[in-house]
Amino acid sequence: MIRFDNVTFQYEKAFSPALSDICLEIKQGEFVAIVGHNGSGKSTLAKHINGLLLPTKGTVTVCGMSTSVEENILKIRQKVGMAFQNPDNQLVTTVVEEDVAFGPENLGVHPDEIRVRVDEALASVGMTDYATFAVHHLSGGQKQRIAIAGILALKPQVLVLDEASAMLDPSGRAELLETIEKLHKEGMTVVMVTQYMEETTGCDRVIVMKGGHVMLDGTPAEVFRHTDLLLDSNLVPPETVAVRDALKDMGYPLSDDVLTAGRLAEELCPLI
Ligand code: ADP
Ligand code: MG
Repeated sequence: MIRFDNVTFQYEKAFSPALSDICLEIKQGEFVAIVGHNGSGKSTLAKHINGLLLPTKGTVTVCGMSTSVEENILKIRQKVGMAFQNPDNQLVTTVVEEDVAFGPENLGVHPDEIRVRVDEALASVGMTDYATFAVHHLSGGQKQRIAIAGILALKPQVLVLDEASAMLDPSGRAELLETIEKLHKEGMTVVMVTQYMEETTGCDRVIVMKGGHVMLDGTPAEVFRHTDLLLDSNLVPPETVAVRDALKDMGYPLSDDVLTAGRLAEELCPLI
């Protein structure tokens, strides 16, 4: 669905590239988390997926179309929806359902079809009951779900989220993650940039960026096997992983699949 072939990107006037020779492939239906320090290249990578940025060298291909070919850009943007950090910057009208309808209206979608899409999109993010609410009465998490409903109403095949949970409180983050996980289960390809390692344990794959390179790429169990490597780079693994490793050091034979409190309890209880 998404391919990066030897992608290097350099911002104008920057001393070093923000992305260096990135090669990766994201399959249809995959749920991929991208983590890494500030400045490691996560947003630059995300913006390459819908052609907001074009590679200085190499190629990005989305659904078989290169982002470097100008005629492809519109089609690629219809396939890739992007959500950003601040929900207030992404909502344009004052009433929830009008906001969700805004995108398809601009594309000239028939009003009957818009009604169907708005209802489906609101249902997908669990916000049906809020259709006629004023946007400014919503919590941060609810606003972010409305922003995502607005993207879903455009019928994308890929959802790219760039730190969409960063401005939310813990309960807002939890409801957003639950919504994203549900969309993934329904078949959406999801690329989620996040600064919260805990959010990645339910993903199919975690990509760790460092200095414009891919430092680690694998399932959460594979990536969080390398806690020393992560800690050397000042990246803090999920708390449960730290507890797991401490217990392993004490001699408890726990598997690499222990990434959540529930799984830790399951494996630990029979041993004590
Ligand atoms: P992240 O999202 O992981 O924090 P970014 O992709 O935003 O990282 O940034 C990667 C690198 O590119 C950083 O060194 C950053 O300073 C630089 N950078 C980002 N945006 C610009 C820009 N508009 N102009 C110049 N350099 C930039
Ligand atoms: Mg960023």
